Amino acid sequence: MKAVLFPGNKRVDVIDRPNPVPGVEEVLIKMRASALCRSDMSIYYGKPVVGGEAAKTGLIVPGHEPAGEVVKLGPGASGVQPGDRVAVYLAIGCGRCQWCHRGYRMLCPRWKCLGFDVDGGDADYLVAPAVNCLKLPEELSFEAGAVMTDMIGTQYSAQKRLGVSGATTLAVFGIGPMGAAGVLIGKARGARVIAVDVLEDRLAMAKELGADEMVDSGNEDATARLRELTQGTGVDVAIDCSGNAKAQNAALD
Ligand code: ZN
Repeated sequence: MKAVLFPGNKRVDVIDRPNPVPGVEEVLIKMRASALCRSDMSIYYGKPVVGGEAAKTGLIVPGHEPAGEVVKLGPGASGVQPGDRVAVYLAIGCGRCQWCHRGYRMLCPRWKCLGFDVDGGDADYLVAPAVNCLKLPEELSFEAGAVMTDMIGTQYSAQKRLGVSGATTLAVFGIGPMGAAGVLIGKARGARVIAVDVLEDRLAMAKELGADEMVDSGNEDATARLRELTQGTGVDVAIDCSGNAKAQNAALD
């Protein structure tokens, strides 16, 4: 099969590799979509921000937001069938600890990240644990399924835990892919959503995705403006998706 490698130093190699074989409780998936994440850029530049030693070798196939079609089951694999359309969740847990049993595979002390520690989806085929396969409904494309695994799942989980509802005014700082998902999920949960960014086109996108108000934090004091929009009380929930210290402080304020 063909596979992509990022050996570092901004190089992209397309190589030939033997097709992977599904092991115990694993499945073989024919890849149909694999999203590029900002964290993939860190491998591209040779300084991976996720994963252990393996990620630094440049020999692991990237792609931690993949979707495709199940073609073969390994021994003992269950829950999916050949022909199923699936997205693949990125955290591979040990399957035995309390976190894995509770479904929080990303908290497993022995977790491995797809596309960083083990081969990911930037290839013709991917092997993954059957338990990581999320069945896609017919109306969801492979592309949507792929990006859903990371940003939509993260926002859904965070906003559920924060109790975001129709009674919530939510501010989302930083309208990149994660912030855009924050706007979508916030609106889907019924909240009043205020998008904060320094880039005009990102704010325009937030509006298109349903944000109720936009705050241009490059031109105005975000905290003051959010107070103004909430009769002085401030927002109920603030989520920072920018990673920028200024935005994090504004969110806390
Ligand atoms: Zn575990």
